[in-house]
Amino acid sequence: MTDLFLDSLSIESGTLRIIPLGGLGEIGMNCLIIESPDEIIVIDCGVLFSDLDHFGIEFVIPDFTYLKNRADKVKAIILTHGHEDHIGAVPYLLKNGIRAPLYASPFTSLMLREKLTEFGLLQSTEIRTFKMGGTFSTKDFKVTTTSVNHSIVDAAALIIDTPIGKIIHTGDFKMDPSPFFGQRMDESVFKKAGEEGVLLLLSDSTNVERHSHSQSEADVYGSFDKLFAAAEGLTMVAMFSSNVARMAQVFDLAKKTNKKIALCGRSMEKNFSLGVEAGFIKHSADQLIRLDDIDSYNREDVIVLTTGTQGEYRSALFRVAQGEHSLIDLREGDRVLMSSRFIPGNEKEVGRMINNLFKQGADVLYEATHLIHVSGHATRPELKMMMEWTKPKFFLPIHGEYRMLVHHARVATEVGMKDEQILVASNGDVLSIGKEHFQITYQMEEEPRTFIDGRMMNEVTKDILRDRRKLGETGGIFVLFTREPDTGNIVAGPEVILRGIVTPEHEELILSKTRELVLRLVREAKRAKDAGKMDTDLAESIRVEVRRLVYSILGKKPVVIPFILDL
Ligand SMILES: [Zn+2]
Repeated sequence: MTDLFLDSLSIESGTLRIIPLGGLGEIGMNCLIIESPDEIIVIDCGVLFSDLDHFGIEFVIPDFTYLKNRADKVKAIILTHGHEDHIGAVPYLLKNGIRAPLYASPFTSLMLREKLTEFGLLQSTEIRTFKMGGTFSTKDFKVTTTSVNHSIVDAAALIIDTPIGKIIHTGDFKMDPSPFFGQRMDESVFKKAGEEGVLLLLSDSTNVERHSHSQSEADVYGSFDKLFAAAEGLTMVAMFSSNVARMAQVFDLAKKTNKKIALCGRSMEKNFSLGVEAGFIKHSADQLIRLDDIDSYNREDVIVLTTGTQGEYRSALFRVAQGEHSLIDLREGDRVLMSSRFIPGNEKEVGRMINNLFKQGADVLYEATHLIHVSGHATRPELKMMMEWTKPKFFLPIHGEYRMLVHHARVATEVGMKDEQILVASNGDVLSIGKEHFQITYQMEEEPRTFIDGRMMNEVTKDILRDRRKLGETGGIFVLFTREPDTGNIVAGPEVILRGIVTPEHEELILSKTRELVLRLVREAKRAKDAGKMDTDLAESIRVEVRRLVYSILGKKPVVIPFILDL
């Protein structure tokens, strides 16, 4: 990302710069910058799970170049809650040399602690745990936190007093009249801010397309209660392991019905421990059994809590569905409750997995058929209510695919806001806000995103991704030989290796023609040299000519990689 113009663009006093680095135009990778002339605060720093998995790209994170170039200005990194799409990229932000304190609620702090430990960054990072309702300040920003309902405990919204007015960042939220933990969110905090005057509202757009008020966690509790009581076989509950409140409900109900619980999946075990440590899951010791102990109990008395709701390849539930799990095999009478939403884009994988679970003989219940999951995001009527409480002067919909941002902007129009008060922006847009204006002043040349290889846990550039895509589509040809540099004669080779091109029985033609071609090109290069002509780029001409040759035979141009070893 080179944005020289942006570097020269100063922030006028009496204005703030706002840059969404992620989360606008997609569900995931949330990260937003608020910048005064002297300071930057970063709100959330998440990952986006990638649909480029077949190129080894497991997730995408924001490109932190902008922050890296202003590292000294960054005074706070604020995490609204512990979901991966809000905290998953924190280690990469730190690895980029940005070392401001991390501010998080108690449970979010625990999740951060685990994440930073995994990356060996805990010792060098300061986590400042905030209490809900408390405040913390930098020179230009005073942040007040308030608890909101969401599908993870301890989620916060932020009320930020800035030199030019109040900014409210809702984080991910919903209005749950009866959450399993804590109170319903405190509307008086938002109303009070509204009375004092809110300059800008940044609000979660995920469920703007849903028109009825969101359902409560209490509804799930009721469904689970009935289903557990009526179990005739093993019950598997598949859910996001970060949803500790839902996990606690299962423990609570299991106690009532005298059932045992086994945990399946590494993140389920880890988050269970965090839930116990934070005091959300209590008295679980006599309920918990080991996965390999299931057969010592009546099948209907056992509940397995598992990850893998998105049909992720390699997840425990995926292996159960394939009949390949070493400790769990499903039988007639068993039930799988898919207690989570299917993230858009994953429908195919999830659908295939559900089909396979049925094939194993189990009954599978999911959101579309039973009330066993409720969303953690506010629907349209709740979003409207948030606007009516806060009465913002300006509005920026965040956290959503582009169409959701557009719909959310329309909600603002419905409550009487004018077009000039609302912006629908994209990642990498640079916004300027003052007391009387809110506008996009600049758009970054490229969308600020970085690809992360799941195995290496490291950055992959666009060039590497392009190579992988090309290699994946066309295969590769490697040409190797050793040369005597003075004479230009070949000492060993050429060896030609084909990968992903044709079946072995059809290789011979391409191998022999390629060898022939390479020998000719080497001879020509030598002749040119002997004649005193300029050195030709032999590797480049091999690359071009071999591609041309294969195209003439197969109709496609593979990646050609020449290795010339001068002795
Ligand atoms: Zn969330």
